[in-house]
Amino acid sequence: MPAEVLQHAASEMLDWQGSGMSVMEMSHRGQEFGRILEAAEADLRELLSVPANFRILFMQGGGLGENAIVPLNLSRSKTVDFVITGSWSQKSLKEARRYAPTHVVASNEADGHTRLPDATTWQLSQDASYVHLCSNETINGIEVHELPDLKALGSNAPLVIDFSSHVASRPVDWSRVGLAFGGAQKNLGPAGLTLVVVREDLIGHALAICPSAFDYKTVADNHSMYNTPPTFAIYMAGLTFQWLKRQTEGGHQGVAAMEARNIAKAALLYDYIDQSQFYENKVARDCRSRMNVPFFLRDESRNEAFLSGAKAAGLLQLKGHKSVGGMRASLYNAMPLEGVQALVSYMRQFEKTQA
Ligand code: PMP
Repeated sequence: MPAEVLQHAASEMLDWQGSGMSVMEMSHRGQEFGRILEAAEADLRELLSVPANFRILFMQGGGLGENAIVPLNLSRSKTVDFVITGSWSQKSLKEARRYAPTHVVASNEADGHTRLPDATTWQLSQDASYVHLCSNETINGIEVHELPDLKALGSNAPLVIDFSSHVASRPVDWSRVGLAFGGAQKNLGPAGLTLVVVREDLIGHALAICPSAFDYKTVADNHSMYNTPPTFAIYMAGLTFQWLKRQTEGGHQGVAAMEARNIAKAALLYDYIDQSQFYENKVARDCRSRMNVPFFLRDESRNEAFLSGAKAAGLLQLKGHKSVGGMRASLYNAMPLEGVQALVSYMRQFEKTQA
């Protein structure tokens, strides 16, 4: 979370804009929260340049919830095509199998999830209901830098992206996307809110077994208020959207500014790792994530010393995911360039002391 956003929320925690209430105490049907929700949606639409024929839904259940909710809404009992690029797309596939026939069009498992299968080799189905792609694999550190044009690849199916871990870090090419979903907790706000951006024609085709609260039509028709929405998380996300709109970098504003900053942050860390004999990143250069940088000490017996020294230097949460091991630096939007500079400087110093 950007510190400015936390400070702002703290300043009006007990009394939101003279209303005499905390946001947590408001009725979600009252006009105060109505204003918060409306502003959050409008700001997000502007920030991500969401076209008018897409609906923005504020839901609950997280990315893992959407792994079920998407097939329940979009599969129409037809085959769902999956691109397997790492742990999260594998999880999505496993869940979708409960609701629809699935087909793996490509997988990088044999490469240890270190490179993206070239889109021209994908074995796309003739009549898929949609194609699932995780556009940033948080654990494996793989990012899709250019979304595929499915039409050009011979598929008429809409593309569904799981953009949980890089939403708002870069612009989205909506002409190539039918639906995007993601938990808010990386770049948008606190946990508890799930964002879905869906093209209108994909709404209204849910399977009969789909719970009403997770039917995109019910959610859209009720402006994300069919059931009580996560009001405080939406408020925090709304403050984050305003913060994002204020950001400038190299003549850019908003998400484009974040992209410029994220490119610079990631380059600083990858360049350092690549020139080092001590550290290593195993992901192919053309698909390295700007958000999540998994890296390894070539001598893994020094891992614990690295982590405890990092902690003492105020550099936290660097331990890699248990399925991958090693280290992982997550450079989400709220992480300033100075944070990455501090990490690189610590890594350099650690390397020297171990020589
Ligand atoms: N997809 C991706 C790409 C993720 O990074 C995560 C969470 N780290 C999830 C899905 C699962 O999200 P949640 O915990 O919100 O269900």
